Amino acid sequence: MSTIYAVDHLHQPGGWLSPGFLEVGAEGTILSAASAPPPGRAVERLAGFAVPGMANLHSHAFQRALAGRTEFVTAARAEDNLWTWRQEMYRLVDRLTPGTLEAIAALVYLEMLRFGMTSVCEFHYVHHQPGGRPHADPAEMSDRIIAAADRAGLGLTLLPVLYAHGGIGRPVEGAQLRFANGVDGLLRIVETLRSRRAGRPALRVGLALHSLRAVTPAEARAALEGMRAMDPAARLHIHVSETTHEVAEVESGLGARPVRWLLDNLGLDERWCLVHATHLDASEVAGAAASGAVAGLCPLTEATMGDGFFPLPEYHGAGGAWGIGTDSHYSAATAEELRILECGKRLQLRRRNVIARPHDGAPVHSGRVLFDTALAGGDRAAAQGGGALLPGRRADVVILDPDSHPLLGHGPDTVLDAWLLGGTDNPVRDVMVAGRWLIRDRRHPEEERIRADYRVAARTLFG
Ligand SMILES: [Zn+2]
Repeated sequence: MSTIYAVDHLHQPGGWLSPGFLEVGAEGTILSAASAPPPGRAVERLAGFAVPGMANLHSHAFQRALAGRTEFVTAARAEDNLWTWRQEMYRLVDRLTPGTLEAIAALVYLEMLRFGMTSVCEFHYVHHQPGGRPHADPAEMSDRIIAAADRAGLGLTLLPVLYAHGGIGRPVEGAQLRFANGVDGLLRIVETLRSRRAGRPALRVGLALHSLRAVTPAEARAALEGMRAMDPAARLHIHVSETTHEVAEVESGLGARPVRWLLDNLGLDERWCLVHATHLDASEVAGAAASGAVAGLCPLTEATMGDGFFPLPEYHGAGGAWGIGTDSHYSAATAEELRILECGKRLQLRRRNVIARPHDGAPVHSGRVLFDTALAGGDRAAAQGGGALLPGRRADVVILDPDSHPLLGHGPDTVLDAWLLGGTDNPVRDVMVAGRWLIRDRRHPEEERIRADYRVAARTLFG
C-alpha cells in the first residue's frame, strides 16, 4: 500500500510543484510526483517545502571527536597546517576502539540527518588494532560503521580504504599501522562487507584509494581490478590534490600532477569521486569535468585546514559534476558547506553570485544552483538511488519548515537562497529515508541514547 503526501511546494528538477503530491510505495520508492493526487485517494498533508535528501559524499566519522580540539598553536607548532593537524588526528587514532568509533559515528550520522543529509559516503581507513594487528574479524571496525548507520537510519556507501604506504616510497609507521592493508587484505574486507548487505537495502560497498601517496600504481590497478570483478559499477573514491605539497610529491614521484596522472593512467569516469581536487591546472579542470567523475568538495574542512580554493567557476562552467562532503565534521550542515563554498569564492574574486550564470533573462538563483548541483553530484558519488523526487527514485525526502526563521516570508523562488545563504536556524523539520520517517518535528527516536553514548565515548577518549 502506498501513501500520498500533499506538500505546499514539491522540489522538481528545474522548478517546483505548488502544491505537490508525492506517492511513496511500501518498499520506500517514489511511485509518482504530480500536481494533483491520484483520484479517490486520501492524502497526508505536510506544510512546507519538500526537497530531496542530500548525499554527503565524504566522511571520516571518527574525526568528529577532534573538532574544536586542535584550534591552538604552541611554540613547537607555531605554523599549523594539514600535516601538523594530522599528528593530532593520529593521537586520536591510537586511542580509538570499536565501541568509541560506533558511538562517534552514530552521533555524526544523526547530525547529518538533522540537517537534511540522507546518505553518507564513509571513507573508512581505521581497520586494525593499534600496532597494526587485525581484529579477530578483520571487518570489525567497518561493522561498527554499519551499526552506527543502522542506528541513525541513513543510507551508507561504505568505502574501505586501501592505504599501503606512508608516502611515495615510504613505509607506514605509528598510527598508520592501523590503516595498512595489502590489496588482497583490503579486497577480503570488501568481500565481507558485501555479505552484510542482506536485509540492508541502503548499504552500498565501494572502494577507496587513500591517495596516490599511499598506494603504488600497481596496487591501485590491482585493487580496481579486484573491485570490478565483484561489482563493475562500484563507486571508487580517492583523496587527490588537497595541498600543493601533495601535488609536488606526486609530480616528483609519478611524473605528473595527481589528477592528470589519474586521467592518463587509470581512466576516470562516473564511478569516481575525486575528493578535494583543490589544486587543478586548466588541463586537469577540463579533463576531470569531461570525465564524469565527481569533485568531492569539503568546503568547511578545507577552510579549517587552510588548503586553498577549488576552481569552482571554472569547473562548474566546464560542466563538471561536484558535490559536498563534511569530511572531518566541523559541521554537518548542508547550508554551512554550500555557503562557505560560494562565499569563499566571492571573497577571493571580489564579486557576488559567483556560481549562478544568467540564462534566458529569468533570474538564476545561487541557492538553487548550489543545491541542485550538489544534489546530483552527491547522488552520483553515493549511488544510493535518491537525489530527486521523481518516480523510481528512493524516497529520501526533507521537509523545510516555512515557519523557521530563515524561511519566514519566502516562497519557492527564494527558499533555497534563504536556507543556504540567508539564515542561521536550521529549517529542516522532517526527514524520510527510503520511505521511513526518521525525524518528525525535529525529533529522532534514538537521539537521547546516541547523545549519551557519545558523551561516554568523548570522556573515554579525552578524559
Ligand atoms: Zn578525507
